[in-house]
Amino acid sequence: MSQRWVLHADMDAFYASIEQRDNPELRGKPVIVGANSPRGVVSAASYEARNFGVRSAMPGFRARELCPQGIFVGGDMQKYSAVSRQVRQVFEEFTPEVQPLALDEAFLDVTGSLGLFGSPRELAHALKQRILEETRLVVSVGLGPNKLVAKIACTQSKPDGLLVIEAEQVEAFLRPLPVRRLWGVGPVLGETLARYGIHTMGDLSDYDPSWLEQLLGRRAHELQAMARGEDTRPVESQRAPKSYGEENTFERDVVERDRVSAALTAHSESVAARMRKDHFAGRTVTLRAKLARRRGVRAGRTSADAEPVYPLISRSRTLPNATADGALIRRTVLELWDELALAEPVRLLGVSVSKLERQAAEQLDLFAPRPELRGVTQPSTDGARGARLGGALDAIRERFGDSAIRRAVEAPHKITHSSQIKAGAEAPLVREERRTRVVELDEADEPQEQCD
Ligand SMILES: [Mg+2]
Repeated sequence: MSQRWVLHADMDAFYASIEQRDNPELRGKPVIVGANSPRGVVSAASYEARNFGVRSAMPGFRARELCPQGIFVGGDMQKYSAVSRQVRQVFEEFTPEVQPLALDEAFLDVTGSLGLFGSPRELAHALKQRILEETRLVVSVGLGPNKLVAKIACTQSKPDGLLVIEAEQVEAFLRPLPVRRLWGVGPVLGETLARYGIHTMGDLSDYDPSWLEQLLGRRAHELQAMARGEDTRPVESQRAPKSYGEENTFERDVVERDRVSAALTAHSESVAARMRKDHFAGRTVTLRAKLARRRGVRAGRTSADAEPVYPLISRSRTLPNATADGALIRRTVLELWDELALAEPVRLLGVSVSKLERQAAEQLDLFAPRPELRGVTQPSTDGARGARLGGALDAIRERFGDSAIRRAVEAPHKITHSSQIKAGAEAPLVREERRTRVVELDEADEPQEQCD
């Protein structure tokens, strides 16, 4: 596989730089944002203030001791958020794979965009240039084969930095750096490590793994991997969904397994089709059921607002491999349903799939002879093959309509609930009952109080 390129971009002294940009009298001066109340802490310090030892997150009184001549400004989060949006728009000119970490900081997976710029360095240079044009502010940029290396490279490069670390340079780059540069190595762990003579990432990486495990327990392995620059976490763009789900509320409460199975089948197939369309697969399958019998009333502001409370039951199972196969999802939720062994009717049923993994887009050539297509009349057993088959079914449905093709496994339901199942998405299930699609999105990052 060709090398992945992750870029970490971090605006320099973000809030303080915005103040200096907008107030020329502050330029070249030690500007300290925040910390203007007795208990406040420093949100951002200009590089002039940092020369006095002032740092973000430092208590205000300490900043005043270190830098009595500092100019303390209150800060304007609304303004900083607006600039942050401009910055994010520029990031998105370079790749849709942007994972914001804070108002002034983000990871970008630029693997797919390198072709447009020539080299990682040229891309980074163009990004710095665009940020300067749009905001008259300076961003530091680190690039590496993964998030960990990119972020450390960015920190090392500040201010006004641009540092590219190729995969083969990672070891030499990391070895001399202090272990404290690693995520999760705070003052306490840092001191523990120092007591055993571990000061640099090289020290950590070379330490005997079994001794380290005795000292640190299960974290030892992870820490050593980080010290070697190993990191497989993907850049999770803000729009990346966390789960796909669908649920319906029945007009009449149901208890019969046939009706339950029909609803769960429809939901499973639909959720799977949406995941395949977006090139996702997921490992955790969740069944939600709302019991029909009311258990009290949730008080509202007025009696008219009072809401009846129906107990909600949820059961999940994590599969060994990620899947976007409707048949496998259906089988799993039906197992969960049977294990519940509910003796009372339900008013709502839902299916969702989470622990998502992005799948490579696969071009399906429907009319080439493919062994998978023979599986159309067989319930699939293998998740990956099932997903491919599902993709083929999606394409046929799109072309010829939904009734054109149907998995054989659905046949038993055809007999008892033909009208509901046959028409799939257009079934009475939809017309007579409310049915909702749920795509749970990652919450936007909370604005951070401090920035560097
Ligand atoms: Mg910053």
